Amino acid sequence: MSSLHDSPDDGKAVDAPPAIPVPDDVTEAVRTLIRWAGDDPEREGLLDTPRRVARAWKEYCAGYADDPAHHLARVFEEVGGYDEIVLLKDIPFQSHCEHHMAPIHGTAHIAYLPRNHVVGISKLARVLHAYARRLQVQERLTAEVADCIWNALHPVGVAVVIQATHACMTARGVRTPGVGMVTSRMMGAFRDDERSRREVLALMGF
Ligand SMILES: [Zn+2]
Repeated sequence: MSSLHDSPDDGKAVDAPPAIPVPDDVTEAVRTLIRWAGDDPEREGLLDTPRRVARAWKEYCAGYADDPAHHLARVFEEVGGYDEIVLLKDIPFQSHCEHHMAPIHGTAHIAYLPRNHVVGISKLARVLHAYARRLQVQERLTAEVADCIWNALHPVGVAVVIQATHACMTARGVRTPGVGMVTSRMMGAFRDDERSRREVLALMGF
């Protein structure tokens, strides 16, 4: 989210959505948090911060207004007999952990083995973002992406692998910078057939 630091007068950043009204109780909550953190919400540099924070959180959590399965509604039956793995690799994403509301930065690899039809490849990333832009735990994010593809496309197999770092671990608590977490969910052929699983993991670079 580069727009975060672009401009001190909010709502004008290039990729920001149109400014939405922020209810008073939301700005008041952020002011309370600033006080709790040890600063003075009335000092000049912080005056507009509550409104900016409120709008930023609407962006971070835009996935609540996005139906992930909707992105997979349009399928293509014409696949020229293609029946091999479809893989979207190294998809960067950002999420927030539901325990600390701290950033999660990661990369996802999403694969499926089609049965009769495929979707536009960018749709796999849209499904990921629709779930990532919510308060999450990495395990559930991984499972939700895989389940959504499984239920919408009825493919022969689905494989989702997510690697991520959690600011709640790297910036606070045990403070272990660089430590990453890997989660995976294998379904259908990728779970039941050792050779298919090895093949998809190799394509993903593992
Ligand atoms: Zn956390």
